[in-house]
Amino acid sequence: MIKLTKAPVPEVLERNGEAWTRDYLNYLNQGQEAPEHLASQYRHVEIKLTVKEETSDKCAYCESKLSHVYHGDVEHIKPKKRYPALRYTWDNLTFVCAICNNSKRDNEIQLNPYIIEPSQHMQFYGCGIISISMIGKEAIEVIDLNRTSLIEKRKDKFDRLIQLQNAYLEAQKKGIDVVIERTAEALRAEGLKSSEHSALAQGFLKISQIF
Ligand SMILES: [Zn+2]
Repeated sequence: MIKLTKAPVPEVLERNGEAWTRDYLNYLNQGQEAPEHLASQYRHVEIKLTVKEETSDKCAYCESKLSHVYHGDVEHIKPKKRYPALRYTWDNLTFVCAICNNSKRDNEIQLNPYIIEPSQHMQFYGCGIISISMIGKEAIEVIDLNRTSLIEKRKDKFDRLIQLQNAYLEAQKKGIDVVIERTAEALRAEGLKSSEHSALAQGFLKISQIF
C-alpha cells in the first residue's frame, strides 16, 4: 500500500451525489431495495476513470497493476453496507482488484491510504509485509496482503531489484558510467508511485543506500 492523493470530485458526482444519497437512503428507510441503476451509480464511468487515475491503474490496497488482465472495481473504503450514507461520497471511493475487494468484503480497516501514510504502519521484509502498528496488522489481515499469489509477484520484483543492484555495483566498481546511469535510472523507475509494487522497491532502495 502507498499513500494516495484524492483528485477533485468528478463532475457527475458533484452534480448528483446528494440526490443519489437521498434517494438511496429513502429506499432503505422504507425497507425497500434501491433500483439497480441508482444503487450502481458509484461505478459511473466518470467516477471509475478518476479513481483509476488516482491509483495509476493499480489496486489501492495491494498495488497490483489492473487493466492488463482485469478491469478493477470501485471500492468503498468504509464498507457501503455498514455506511449506506457514504455510498456516493467521493472521499470514500477508490480503485481495487477483485481479490482484495473479495477479501475485505464488508470489513472495515482503519488504514485509509488517502489519509494515513501506510509505510508508518507496515513495511516490507523481503517479499512479505510486516506490520509495525495495530492498524497495519488489521489491514494486512483483512485484505490478506501476504497471500501466495502476491508474494510470488513481489518475488519477481525483488529479483529484478537485486539484479539491477548487482549490475549497478559492478559497474561502479569498474567505473562504467553509462551502465551506472542506466541501472540507477531503472532502479529509480521501480520505486515510482506509478510502478507496480512500488512500496517494496522504495523499502529496498532505502536499505540498499544506493541513492
Ligand atoms: Zn489488490
